[in-house]
Amino acid sequence: MKIRAVRGMNDILPPEAKKWRRVEAVFRRVAERYGYGEVRTPLIEDTSLFSKQMGETSDVVEKEMYSFERHGDSLTVRPEGTAGAARAFVEHGVGAKEPVTRWYYLGPMFRGERPAKGRYRQFHQVGCELYGDPGPVSDAEMIELAYRFLEELGIGDLTVHLNSLGSGDTRARYRKALLDYFTPMAGSLSEDSQRRLEKNPLRILDSKDARDRDAAAKAPSIVDVLDEEDRRHFEGVKGALSAMGIPFVVDPALVRGLDYYTRTLFEIKANGADLGAQSTVCGGGRYDEMVESLGGHKTPAIGFAMGVERILVAMPEVAQDEAKASVYVVAVDERADAGAEPAPAGVSLQTAAALRLGSELRKRGIACLVDARGGKLKAMLKRADASGAKLCAILGADEISRREVTVKDLAAHAQDAVGLEGAAEVIAGRVRAKAGSQPAGVEH
Ligand code: ATP
Ligand code: MG
Repeated sequence: MKIRAVRGMNDILPPEAKKWRRVEAVFRRVAERYGYGEVRTPLIEDTSLFSKQMGETSDVVEKEMYSFERHGDSLTVRPEGTAGAARAFVEHGVGAKEPVTRWYYLGPMFRGERPAKGRYRQFHQVGCELYGDPGPVSDAEMIELAYRFLEELGIGDLTVHLNSLGSGDTRARYRKALLDYFTPMAGSLSEDSQRRLEKNPLRILDSKDARDRDAAAKAPSIVDVLDEEDRRHFEGVKGALSAMGIPFVVDPALVRGLDYYTRTLFEIKANGADLGAQSTVCGGGRYDEMVESLGGHKTPAIGFAMGVERILVAMPEVAQDEAKASVYVVAVDERADAGAEPAPAGVSLQTAAALRLGSELRKRGIACLVDARGGKLKAMLKRADASGAKLCAILGADEISRREVTVKDLAAHAQDAVGLEGAAEVIAGRVRAKAGSQPAGVEH
């Protein structure tokens, strides 16, 4: 039986991987522009880290985690990046070393949910976390970073959805208001929601079940029960966003599925993309209590994560530089061509010269392929054309005896001879001159 990739987990082959690198490169660049540094945490953490922080009744913890026992520990392959980053922040006492910390990360996350377009079991996120700044301006700056990043990738038609969950007492008051509202209609809610009603009625607002959507849409709005300080914070976020020219809509139905959020919540949707229910490319919010609950000092924090697979769907196609190599170096070996003699021990002079030229070109940063497979020159030139290379460097017995290399411009069908000594420098110069006369390629 053929072994296939695990359901919901994808291979990314070239040239697709190049698009991924572009997303990652633009993300790093934008994040670093805002003063963020990269953090890399393990893929596997203690299960309790996620169950405590994300919440026992969250979808992720209830049914999506890849957890297993090893050496007596319960471990989980990370479903998200925020809890692990906060664990590292506390573990390394980072808060004592700097007043404000800005971290970004990127990498795979794992959730055993039902696969669909833009929804996978291994998916990838890029994200940011900011620790130590309680003010609303940092919330707005975080949203701006996410928005500008998506803009820079050419994703237009974005909507920022904004809400506040309040903090402390507000949460408790809102919970009570929801309980009063949902209890009389409990019988018509989904089984999940009925079960969660007592424990966490907020979850019902986030349900994707059709039986819950209508009731959720008419539920009391948290914005109406915010206390004075929560309200001032929320107004501050909105004011700062307006000052930065970031459009947003206040969306009282936005609750997001995790327990750790306090006050600001946001999502960014890419409306133009054909993603259906998966059009949310970015989700984030404030989580002022997490660091303390992990044993650190009370430290306000805010962050977001974006799904790379969804970003890639929403991104416009950009011209890809298809060529894998700029130079195709061929060693024309007549003995191999004749096919009569067995391959000699060691390599022919032509092959040796071709390998040396290849090394010299690569040292100069030029991508090249060396073809010492033998065969007729015509067949080799065909392979050179098919490779997409711009130049072909030919090393046959004649060239070797004249201490030359024939350089063929594959598009212009022109060729000349270049002295073997210093050939790499000359060929590299030609490749650079060609690259300079063409539209800029894809960054990586
Ligand atoms: P959704 O409501 O779509 O399930 P979520 O609220 O569970 O998303 P978060 O945990 O906030 O998602 O993760 C942030 C972002 O990561 C999402 O907005 C989405 O772009 C991406 N994401 C989440 N889960 C998946 C998945 N299973 N496959 C692909 N991308 C995902
Ligand atoms: Mg989800």
